[in-house]
Parts: sequence; C-alpha cells; structure tokens
Amino acid sequence: VIDMGQPEHSVVTTCAYCGVGCSFKAEMKGDQVVRMVPYKGGEANHGHSCVKGRFAFGYATHKDRIKSPMIRDSIDQPWKEVSWEEAIGFAAKRLKDIQAEHGRESIGGITSSRCTNEEAYLVQKLIRTAFGNNNTDTCARVCHSPTGYGLKQTLGESAGTQTFDSVMHADCILVMGANPTDAHPVFGSLLRRRLREGASLIVIDPRQIDLLSTPHLGQAAHLPLRPGTNVAMINALAHVVVTEGLEDKDFIASRCEGDDYMKWREFISDARHAPEAMEEITGVAAETVRKAARQYATAKNAAIYYGLGVTEHSQGSTTVMGIANLALATGNIGREGVGVNPLRGQNNVQGSCDMGSFPHELPGYQHVADSVARARFEAAWGVELDSEPGLRIPNMFDAAISGHFRAMYVQGEDIAQSDPNTQHVEAALRALDCLIVQDIFLNETAKFAHVLLPGSTFLEKNGTFTNAERRINRVRKVMPPLAGKEDWEVTMELANALGYPMSYKHPSEIMDEIASLTPSFAGVSYQKLEEHGSLQWPCNVEFPEGSPIMHVESFPIGKAKFALTEFVPTTERANRRFPLLLTTGRILSQYNVGAQTRRTENQVWHDEDILELHPHDAEERGIVDGDWLGITSRAGQTVLRAKVSERMQPGVVYTTFHHPVSGANVITTDNSDWATNCPEYKVTAVQVEKVSQP
Ligand code: SF4
Repeated sequence: VIDMGQPEHSVVTTCAYCGVGCSFKAEMKGDQVVRMVPYKGGEANHGHSCVKGRFAFGYATHKDRIKSPMIRDSIDQPWKEVSWEEAIGFAAKRLKDIQAEHGRESIGGITSSRCTNEEAYLVQKLIRTAFGNNNTDTCARVCHSPTGYGLKQTLGESAGTQTFDSVMHADCILVMGANPTDAHPVFGSLLRRRLREGASLIVIDPRQIDLLSTPHLGQAAHLPLRPGTNVAMINALAHVVVTEGLEDKDFIASRCEGDDYMKWREFISDARHAPEAMEEITGVAAETVRKAARQYATAKNAAIYYGLGVTEHSQGSTTVMGIANLALATGNIGREGVGVNPLRGQNNVQGSCDMGSFPHELPGYQHVADSVARARFEAAWGVELDSEPGLRIPNMFDAAISGHFRAMYVQGEDIAQSDPNTQHVEAALRALDCLIVQDIFLNETAKFAHVLLPGSTFLEKNGTFTNAERRINRVRKVMPPLAGKEDWEVTMELANALGYPMSYKHPSEIMDEIASLTPSFAGVSYQKLEEHGSLQWPCNVEFPEGSPIMHVESFPIGKAKFALTEFVPTTERANRRFPLLLTTGRILSQYNVGAQTRRTENQVWHDEDILELHPHDAEERGIVDGDWLGITSRAGQTVLRAKVSERMQPGVVYTTFHHPVSGANVITTDNSDWATNCPEYKVTAVQVEKVSQP
C-alpha cells in the first residue's frame, strides 16, 4: 500500500471489479485517492472487501492512461493526438460515409459491462437511433448470455433470484462451475461462513475448488465431472429427484405450468438420464450423484450458485434451464435461503444486459419485435426503430471478414484479448474500415483502431452499477476525468456529431429516462438511491422498495416453465492428437485480462498464467513444477509454465487468462452456446508438451 498521508474528505462509491458490487469509501486528499475503505453501510458487502477492491485502484492514475483522443487514417500509421472535437468529428464523418456507401446495417457497436448503466444505455441508444439498426451487443455475450436466455425461458426474468445475504438461510448450497472464494471473494467468505455454521455443500466442478477445504465443513460432496457434461449431470440429479419421489408437489401444482411439468416429468424419468447411464459420460460414480440429489432435494432450503463453468459451453443455456428445472421441481424458489443465483463476473454485467445491450432486446429485456414496447421507445426517442434483431458479436466478426460489416464502436472491452479464437477476431478487426475504441488504455483491440477516445475510470464518473443480486448501487465521481470527459459525455457528443441530438446534463437525467421506459426500473431515481443506499430491481409501483427476492408469489410469466434439456455432447472432443481437456478460470489477485490489476503498484499480484495438470498427466510427459509447456489446440498454440496439482483430475488441465503474453484465447475455439453464441471457453481439447523456455 502506498502511504499518501491523511485524507481530507471521503466519497462513497462502488467497486469496479466483480459482480459482488462492494461499497467503498474513497478517502481523498485533494483529487487523489489515499485509501479505499470498505463501507459498512454497503448492503452487498457490509464493510468487507477483497484485495482487488481495497488495493488495486492505482490503475486509475497509471502512466499508461490515455489522456488525449487520437486518430489515424489506417492501422499501419502512427497515432496522431487531436482535440476531442476533431476526434469525434473524424469518427462521425467516417461512420456516415461508410453507412452511405455500404448501408444502414454495415456498422454497429459494443457496450461495456465495466461502464455504468447510464453509459451502456446511451451506447445502445446511439446505435439504435443514430446508426438506425440493432447491431448492439455487450461483453456479456461471452459470459452470462445463457443466464439471460435460460432464466427468461423458465422463470420469466433474466436475473438471479436472491440477495447475497439469503445464503445465510440455506441448509444445502450447490455450487456449480464457480469458484467464489477467488472470483467473488466477499460473497465467497459469506458462503464459507454459512458452511461453517453447518450448511451442507455440493460442488459440481472438474476441479477441486477452495470451498471444499473450508475448515469445519460438514456434509460435502464433490462431483468432479468431465468438462462439457454439465447437462448430463444436472439431468441425472433431476432424474433422481423425480424417480425417488422427492419433488415438491404442492409448489409444482401451484406455481408451475402443469402440461410443461408432465412433459418434463416423462422426459427426465427416462432411464437414459439415470446417474448409472450418465456415469460413463460425466465420469462421476452414480451413487455419488444419487446421494447429492437426495442431499439437495431433502434440505429445508437449498440454494444453487453458478458461474461461467455453467454458461461458457455449447450447452450453456441448456444447463441454466436444467438448473431452473431442478430448483422448480424441489420448490426451491421464492423465499430466503433458496433460489437460482448466477454469480456475475463483471461489476455491471447484469446492468449492461438490463440496459438493452443485446441485439434482440430494448432496455428491460423488451423484445425489438414487440410493437407496443417499440412504440414507447419510438415516441421517447423520436425515431422509427428496427423490429429485426441485429448482429451478435461473433456475427459482427464473421460479417466483417465477409465485407458486409465495416465499422464498429467499442466501449470498454478488449475484444482482441477476451474473445475466443484470437486469430479470427484479429482478422475481423483488421478488415474494418473504421474501428472506434473508447478505453482507458491502449489495449490489444486498439491496435486495430482508427479512433481512440479516452475512457474514464469508475473514480472519474457519476452513475450506477447493478450487481449480481440486481442491486443498483451509486457510483460517485471522486476525481475529475483525466482526459476531461466522462464516458457518457463522449457517447453523447458522438451521437450529436452523427446528427442525433442528446443533451443530458447529468447521468441522473439518463436514469430518469431509463425509469420512464423500463418497467422493472420505473421506481428508480438518484434521489431514491440516496434515500435507500441501493435498490434491487424490479422497483416499481408493485415493488416500491425494490425486490430483494424474486418470484415470491408469482413469476413474470405467471407460472414457471420446465424445459426439456436433452444432453448433446460438444463437438470439441479429446482424441489421440489432443488428449487433454483444457478449462479456464480466475485467481483472487487478478481480474479478467488484467488490464487494471496488472497496472497497480502492489507487489502481490500474480505475474503469469500457469497450467495446472494432474500428477498422472505430468508424469506421463516427464513434467515437473515450473517446466515450460507448449499447449496446442485445434485453434492455435501458446506457452505456459507448469504446476502439478492434485486439484485436477487426470485428463483435465486448467489455466487462467489474465495475461496477454500467454493468451489463453489463442487456443480456445469458435464453438459456442447453441442459443446465445456464448463461447465454449471451458472445453478445449489440447496436447501439452515440455518445451524449452520461450
Ligand atoms: Fe470488488 Fe468483488 Fe472484491 Fe468486492 S469482492 S471488493 S466487488 S472485486
């Protein structure tokens, strides 16, 4: 920690790292942050924090920050620093020229889950009004888009059902494809507390996660399934519930669609879903699965928490629906201590989805084909809106390579590093006539940009973030933007330069507009946020104080729907050439591609990605800790250092993706979720060999 002396004043704001959304007091000396102190009044964290939120804020003033707008005619030219006016004028002219030559559909953009709700709302509004199409998407595409789809289909709302505090009422906690102590540390600690108090634990994960070594842990089960077999596993659990008569018949009769349930019951009772039939596929002993199913179904309150190990698969959406099936069948929805709870990765991934970032949905998940909803937005925005869904991020890449998509506006996402199959992404970005990047650093994506618009960090802006429990928290400006403008101001000026007028004076006015057009946000305002501290949506006439727990008496769709979740194996299989399956995750001290955490003054940060592999696989290849390894997949190759670990199962290897040098995404493939195109980051068949130091 750098000692910067005594603070003069403090401002309460929200952490900009993970989806827990911890509140902090930024203690200030002039315009400098002296300390970030976890805020006791924060309803998501109650005065707790992790190492990232507490100490990793130095990136905001790092020397690499972009302080001036830059332009260039082509990507092989050097950058030229220019005024804001010139950069925005340059960008607007290029976009207009491209649209005039190639048509309305030839441009699009990406909103950021790192920016505020108000900023995400403005970017999608700019695309829908000034660009005149629905070619808007968000980085949630590559993480939790299956959550949005799967929960909407079954429960009627694209969001988790509980508050974090609700876990303290859970008697059985099922964690699937998530590692909360590293990726959502403050919630991970709360969860551990509940486990120490006696709640039982079921972990469904190929790797042994830290929760399994919680001191004084009572009943616990680890189901170390093979990567890519989530649906087989969740179906096997549901099969046991139904065939052993463990359903909550009253809940099903009163809260679920009867016909749907009968069809699902017949489907899931089939012997092909039995744990014994699935043993060969999942690699987990049938009796272990049966015991876990009974443990979950017979607990008074059973809660499910899941992460990207569920969503980032070719059947990500199917698994989310399977999880909802399991919770519905056992009546674990609509009260404290239960529910279906996606652990969102980024600070505002829930919010960017809520704000209409998807190509098929206006703010509040209102479909673009819904003429009533569209008419409301048309009246407010003064334009005719497209009723056809636009392009998703992977479709934008494909269309760029085929020449139909020519320009892109990317706010706060390093797609060149974070999206799968880097070679393909780079080819798409290189093919664009105009790429506008709005970011705080000259990132990997900016290498292909023609316009660089400096972004602002969470310390330099006003706004709101929505965390994984639908909690809308205020973000408060503690220092002036380094480059002179907050992100929402930049988007507004670009819209004006494109001929679509915007004239907000403060993000609170943007929130007022959001509330007027988005039924679940109808009761949200900055004034109410000041009074309440935070609000959980839906917050409207029906729920004026917000909704800590959803679906208490009814579902937005009336009765919940069961989904038929057939297991379909991924095409990404191990074979003789690529005999191991690679899966990915995070560590506590780093965050995503490391753009911020790698730019702090602290020395504790992990400085390289490593490959974990089981002793059996290591021995077979003569590998010991610290060896350099060449990792080859069908998509590419990279080099990582080895760590031999009993946490892995034989045949499965694991790495993180925090460093651009190792570039885990160089080897991930184009496979994606059938419903949402969320990339299958969690299953890549690879070969691993010892190599000399790179
Ligand atoms: Fe920030 Fe998440 Fe850590 Fe809280 S748990 S301090 S939100 S990174």
